[in-house]
Amino acid sequence: MKKHLLIDGQWKETKEYRPLYSPYNNELLAEIAYADAQDVDDAIAAAEKARPVMAKMPAHQRASILEKLVELLTKNEEECTRLLALEAAKPWTTAKAEVARTIMTYKFAAEEARRIHGETIPLDAAPGGEGRITFTLREPVGVVAAITPFNFPMNLVAHKVGPAIAAGNTVVLKPASQTPLTSIFLAELLQEAGLPDGAINVVTGSGSVVGDRLIQDDRVKVITFTGSPAVGIGLRNKAGLKKVTLELGSNSALIVDKGVDIDSIIPRTVTGAFSFAGQVCISLQRVYVHEDLYGEFTEKFIAQTKTLKLGSPLDPETDVSAVISPKDAERAVSWIEEARQSGAVVAAGGGRDGNIVEPTVLLNVDPKQKVSCQEVFAPIVLINKVASVEEAIAYVNDSRYGLQAGIYTNDIFKALHAAEELEVGGVMINDIPTFRVDHMPYGGVKESGIGREGLKYAIEEMTEMKLISIKK
Ligand code: NAP
Repeated sequence: MKKHLLIDGQWKETKEYRPLYSPYNNELLAEIAYADAQDVDDAIAAAEKARPVMAKMPAHQRASILEKLVELLTKNEEECTRLLALEAAKPWTTAKAEVARTIMTYKFAAEEARRIHGETIPLDAAPGGEGRITFTLREPVGVVAAITPFNFPMNLVAHKVGPAIAAGNTVVLKPASQTPLTSIFLAELLQEAGLPDGAINVVTGSGSVVGDRLIQDDRVKVITFTGSPAVGIGLRNKAGLKKVTLELGSNSALIVDKGVDIDSIIPRTVTGAFSFAGQVCISLQRVYVHEDLYGEFTEKFIAQTKTLKLGSPLDPETDVSAVISPKDAERAVSWIEEARQSGAVVAAGGGRDGNIVEPTVLLNVDPKQKVSCQEVFAPIVLINKVASVEEAIAYVNDSRYGLQAGIYTNDIFKALHAAEELEVGGVMINDIPTFRVDHMPYGGVKESGIGREGLKYAIEEMTEMKLISIKK
């Protein structure tokens, strides 16, 4: 029942443990180690000690460890799904899908481990550069600190641990306090897969205590953080010369142009809005629909929303389960209420049953309302009417965030115009902004972050380029 810290290949007891409860029914799941500053220092020291071992490990061996991990995860798919469903209240089918994606992410990491390379540079392109053979190498940075959120506790850990190992780095992993079980299980599997002691260390505990030690320690070379903008920006401000990758939040939007076949996009858009109770960084939060189709779209969207099944995360039939904490359920309902008081129409949902917030559809929402301009991170979507794609683009861009956006249109010129104008890290034409597969470059602009994940791109962030010039 007690879950310890992983430091230098040993499961180490610490002074304090805190209970971990299910967000769905408050059942006690485990007692989790609560690291103190000394534990974090020990974890960094272990990662630093293992640094030369990983840096010298040949690519084929790093790839083999990741391939073995893929095998072990596949064998333990059911257990991973169960842990995810329990600690995050992630509905069974959604949890299963996350496990499948996690396996894919480590597969990509294993493949990328084999093809990390530099390039040759024609220095004679500049006068004085003649007579040299010059090339670059990509070297591992060393110790990577990975801080991860609760909403994809396996796959977002994979997006940090996978590329770090692929590149020959060592890792200190700080999982979200609500979802440590899958990270602990992953570390056990990595040990079984043959990862050397100290190459992965897991420190559970307070975000600020662990985070502060990680950000202040010069032995840590890269901080890779996924989580809320407030915490991420705070880390960046303290990072000094460390490289920092930030994958932060958003209030992702979709544009629906006139002429689109509404029936064909309703199931996808409803899933985009309510999957994992909207607790997805690219969850569909704002929809701007052309006035010609607004009535039909809203009517069909609302009807489909009302068919969603609420309930236990362990029931394979459940579409929407609890949000992560009572505080978040209260916040969601209060934001809906504020929107209602400012003139929005609550066309579906609006209430809560314990920690389950009903899938909620709001119409006619003022852009200044929190449900529009902040990240809701709950099963709430707004649908507003626009007169043109141009007007919709202006609404989408009127945001602190810029992660991904989507546009459904049959007009290639409007699609390309939107792709150019939308201020986001990725534009999905004829799909929802929630689309992601794990090798694509993924990340945001504005307060949605800096840097890119997707294995190849994360490896670039976790390696240093070294130039070597040989004078003939
Ligand atoms: P969060 O509260 O910011 O927590 C994220 C991680 O940071 C957790 O491990 C947390 O630890 C830790 N933390 C908290 N305070 C810290 C501090 N002062 N210094 C260092 N670390 C600290 O975010 P969350 O609620 O778990 O996740 C939801 C957020 O993540 C949303 O904003 C969502 O959009 C964003 N997200 C972004 C992406 C993306 O790829 N762009 C993907 C998924 C989620 P504790 O749990 O112990 O507090």
